Amino acid sequence: MSPGASPAEDFEALYGTAPEGIWAAPGRVNLIGEYTDFNDGFVMPLALPQTAVAAVSRRTDGVLRLHSADMDGGVVQLRVEELSPRAGAGWEAYPAGVVWALRTAGHAVTGADIHLASTVPTGAGLSSSAALETVIALALNDLYELGLSRDRLAVTGQRAENGFVGVPCGIMDQTASACCTDGHVLHLDTRDISRRQIPFDLAGSGLKLLVVDTRVQHALGDGAYAERRAGCESGARALGVRALRDIAYVQLPAALSRLSDETVRRYVRHVVTDNHRVGRVVAHLDAGDVRAVGPVLTEGHASLRDDLRVSCPELDLVVSAANTVGALGARMTGGGFGGSAIVLVEATDADMVARSVVEAFATAGYAAPRIFPAVPSAGARRLV
Ligand code: ADP
Ligand code: MG
Repeated sequence: MSPGASPAEDFEALYGTAPEGIWAAPGRVNLIGEYTDFNDGFVMPLALPQTAVAAVSRRTDGVLRLHSADMDGGVVQLRVEELSPRAGAGWEAYPAGVVWALRTAGHAVTGADIHLASTVPTGAGLSSSAALETVIALALNDLYELGLSRDRLAVTGQRAENGFVGVPCGIMDQTASACCTDGHVLHLDTRDISRRQIPFDLAGSGLKLLVVDTRVQHALGDGAYAERRAGCESGARALGVRALRDIAYVQLPAALSRLSDETVRRYVRHVVTDNHRVGRVVAHLDAGDVRAVGPVLTEGHASLRDDLRVSCPELDLVVSAANTVGALGARMTGGGFGGSAIVLVEATDADMVARSVVEAFATAGYAAPRIFPAVPSAGARRLV
């Protein structure tokens, strides 16, 4: 199929009728609070303007047809009652996993025709996968009148990714895509999904938040998430708490002195200090001091680099190159080992800082990064 002018036209060209509706769900960047969501901790994502868009119609015959404008190959056809988690499935596992998650939760989803197109860069740490899951969950929730809250939609997407695709992600990405609002950053407590929208007025403060997609993904990242997670869990066990979130910042020195394993000590220090950094960022934003967030980002990066050890030379170079020429602060965002960094800059410095990062990459012999502003945008919504 050659891409048409709109998702509706593409849908009609594929399936022969107009879709019942069109939905969008965004990717995200996380401002602060990294690797905290599987420790019952705090995170602060904001939705990007880039979205996954889905044109969807119901079916009553148990057939699920899936198509992505961004993937080679035609329509994938599955039967909803035959959906079961299997390793090694392709991109269709993400939307199919949402249908599976809804059906195994007892919702009578009897099939769908789905056409997807996304502007969220994939594999860049910007949660193109959560955008996909969330847009499908919202579309099916609306069409089948399931009455699920935004939180439940996020949990549905996470279950699809954990249980069907087989990626052990936390709840941040799907909650960000489902719950963020325009002009805000989401202060999310991942223990109970309680949350607050905090105004994040970059433009009004004369600032920009740049996303720098390094366009690299190091293979090292594959097992690292599970290893960090296991290390944090063993730290919590050793300290006798349910999760590392239960170690307050003031208790950190005492907690560290009780841990014999050097690696676990570093992981615990990262999680406890990053939870504390989330609180500091909240305080700065509540006080209207967006600039003060910058140095906290850079501290967070040092912790991810030195204590959790999930950064990489390209991400470190973004942070050092940007800060050297006067950025207010910068850090990697997402899982690390490649993917993206964020850089807080004076709006008047944005082009200069971006150029400096591009030059530093060229000097280091790295491929050119992709740089764009993160404009705090709306969460998942129905378009048509
Ligand atoms: P991230 O979520 O950081 O972008 P992931 O590896 O978690 O990276 O998810 C990327 C995967 O999500 C892709 O490999 C693909 O399987 C799926 N995906 C993302 N966007 C699309 C799309 N527009 N069409 C089809 N599949 C997509
Ligand atoms: Mg993902």
